[in-house]
Amino acid sequence: MAIDRHGRRIDYLRISVTDRCNLRCVYCMPPGGIEWKAHEEILTFEEIERFARIAAEEGISKIRLTGGEPLVRLGIVDHIRRLHETTGIEAIALTTNATLLARYAEDLADAGLKRINISLDTLDPDVYSRITRGGKLEDVLEGIEAAFRVGMDPVKINVVVVRSLEQDLAGFARMTLERPVHIRFIEYMPVGDVGAHSCASSDTDGWTADDHVPTDEILERLTTEGAALGFGELVPVERDNAPGGWGPASYYRFAGAPGTLGMISPLSHHFCSECNRLRLTADGGLRTCLFSDDEIDVRSVLRGGSDEDVRALIHRALAEKPESHNQQLGTVRHMSEIGG
Ligand code: SAM
Ligand code: SF4
Repeated sequence: MAIDRHGRRIDYLRISVTDRCNLRCVYCMPPGGIEWKAHEEILTFEEIERFARIAAEEGISKIRLTGGEPLVRLGIVDHIRRLHETTGIEAIALTTNATLLARYAEDLADAGLKRINISLDTLDPDVYSRITRGGKLEDVLEGIEAAFRVGMDPVKINVVVVRSLEQDLAGFARMTLERPVHIRFIEYMPVGDVGAHSCASSDTDGWTADDHVPTDEILERLTTEGAALGFGELVPVERDNAPGGWGPASYYRFAGAPGTLGMISPLSHHFCSECNRLRLTADGGLRTCLFSDDEIDVRSVLRGGSDEDVRALIHRALAEKPESHNQQLGTVRHMSEIGG
């Protein structure tokens, strides 16, 4: 079992398999994208699988693959299949923008993938195109249908809430009345270039403090709007009945609804004391905190060291993981490079 120096059990590893993406979401990437890392800087699947095996021996049991967009990396399906064969890894999840999911859903399910998190911040095609700088909402909706069709479970939709985007949160809530989908509202986070611009502008990737919407406010809005729209009463879901989560979301549902609404508040109620994760960037940096740019260079050890050397880096990460993010704003790396 992996325990860090603050006594937290660390059993969850997020792996960014690529820094590349087919979208340019305003809060994640600058308009021109970021300069992609050279091919040789990116960990090979073999290197990732070796790291995952050693991490599993040290107590990691859950892996989430993210990016960039994980589905743009060739060979991702077989990579997932091989990770499932790693002793000690109990579950693998994928975070995706779902634009390519309709194409891959069946193969992913066949490779053993069940848990999927889809990022979707609006149900309005024009707003979607603006947020993602050119994405087609239709592709994502087809991806969601495909996920249900092939039996993925849980299907979660991550909605980053940004004040200046004026999102229709009730539209997402309505989806939970119709099917077992788990909508998770996430506070916009100050990661990447912390500029002085609003998200409403498509040519910036900036954060302003005004764009942050605390989840207490989101919950209040959903309660009022849900009542006005006849969705019923919004009630808390006990932790044991929440859709199998690895993170600190608090869940609610409209009474009798098959789906749930989750609140994730990294800023307003930060959950560092429960943090159970490490992150591996696509180019092999091991990060102990989303908000800290301190990274341990795993790549050079994977390329020149023994398993024991790699193990020592994991121990170092456990020893260095900070107690909290201390409300730090901004990071050198963009979210697409870290993986969220
Ligand atoms: N491309 C995939 C996707 O969009 O799901 C995986 C990588 S993306 C970086 C992972 C998650 O980070 C997405 O759910 C995205 O909405 C979220 N994200 C990106 N920038 C963010 C920000 N500044 N604050 C909060 N969440 C953010
Ligand atoms: Fe790409 Fe995901 Fe970032 Fe959007 S949030 S630009 S889909 S990596």
